[in-house]
Amino acid sequence: MDTYMTLRVYGTDTVPDTLSQELFRLDRQLSATRPDSLLTQLNEGGSLTCEEPIAALLRESLGLSARTDGALDPSVYPAVQLWGFPTDEFHVPTQAELDAVKPYIGTDHIHLDGSTVRLDEGTRLDFGAVAKGYAARRCVALLEQAGVSAALLSLGGNIQTYGSKPDGDWCIGITDPMGQSDCFATLHLQGSHAIVTSGSYQRSFTVGTETYHHILDPETCRSADSGLLSVTVVCADGLLADGLSTALFVMGLERAAKLYQESCDFEAVFYLEDGTVYLTQGLTEVYSGREYEVIAR
Ligand code: AMP
Ligand code: MG
Repeated sequence: MDTYMTLRVYGTDTVPDTLSQELFRLDRQLSATRPDSLLTQLNEGGSLTCEEPIAALLRESLGLSARTDGALDPSVYPAVQLWGFPTDEFHVPTQAELDAVKPYIGTDHIHLDGSTVRLDEGTRLDFGAVAKGYAARRCVALLEQAGVSAALLSLGGNIQTYGSKPDGDWCIGITDPMGQSDCFATLHLQGSHAIVTSGSYQRSFTVGTETYHHILDPETCRSADSGLLSVTVVCADGLLADGLSTALFVMGLERAAKLYQESCDFEAVFYLEDGTVYLTQGLTEVYSGREYEVIAR
């Protein structure tokens, strides 16, 4: 998954190996860049029958796409490739190049029939916005199976807490997107939570005075320019947190706040370009750090 992962499991030496084997297995299945992955088979062959993880992950991604008005869209991959993010061979596409990939982007080009996925000609999928969250969910299932009491997983910045930390709260720092200090805030949590941040600072390149980052607005196929520098989602499930953090980043504060008010399954921290921090009301008791405004439900 092109990132660093840290697994801390309390009271056992063997479970981390089980988790890392699962993570390597998921990477082999879900990577859009590995020539031998299941996802590459789908992207190159145009169809694939496979329930776990492909159809299952796609089904939930499509649900989140509908819920976020298309802000999350796994079919945005041809545009991601055009910008060079998968290979680090960055390129600023012309409007004509972007227009040429747009006909392939959109969830109506994805056909899911039971465990069989079929893609329209030219459409390609990318699970980059959800794969780490899905992996966190799978790790939680393995921790449950192993009867572990507590664990802290960092899957490339996707944090998953599990169970009760023996010596107090889980203290989860949120990276300062301006890079002025390591973290601008800390969340003090108990029990099992997914804490996932999407930010323009995480992957970007600069040409002249313009900086381009890796979270694309599927409408424009350009870096989302919604006034946010980062969004952190806190919820029970890794996949939901991962998908939503990417989608809320694209949606911007106003649309994200509206979605929050219509939902009951997540909380979030928003860091705006002007340095303002917004916090959903369910986090006020567990947040310490930079001054904030509250989004009420
Ligand atoms: P994340 O780091 O979870 O926010 O996901 C960002 C990654 O998801 C990018 O590196 C792309 O591979 C992919 N991506 C970018 N924009 C979108 C989008 N709007 N919907 C779905 N995937 C996206
Ligand atoms: Mg994500």
